[in-house]
Amino acid sequence: MGKVYAFPSPEDRAQIKDAIAACANWKISQNTMNCIIANVLQERRIKKLVVENFIVRYIGNIITLAGVFPVVTIKATQKAAGDACPACGHRGGGYLRGDEVMTVFCNRCGGVYEVEAEAIG
Ligand SMILES: [Zn+2]
Repeated sequence: MGKVYAFPSPEDRAQIKDAIAACANWKISQNTMNCIIANVLQERRIKKLVVENFIVRYIGNIITLAGVFPVVTIKATQKAAGDACPACGHRGGGYLRGDEVMTVFCNRCGGVYEVEAEAIG
């Protein structure tokens, strides 16, 4: 019989959300966020996880002279019509990543969504 791994728990999802919130508010680096997310997924032996309205995916590691860096993607499932959060209408979410299309964390409802760069300003 193979080893049985626990399914992702609400605590796993909370840990991922906390890491994303901290990164969006400049409390931890993007690499630290990626490490936290990668660790959660690796502990559960999964490659991706749906967390509320976004999906995190662990792609693998980049090995450089400066160290080993996990590559993690965060895919929002909702897109803002302008620059306001599509779930709660709050404006001015925390930047996570992206350029022309940015992935943003909402500090009011905790959702993750996409914003077109030209909708800001
Ligand atoms: Zn919101």
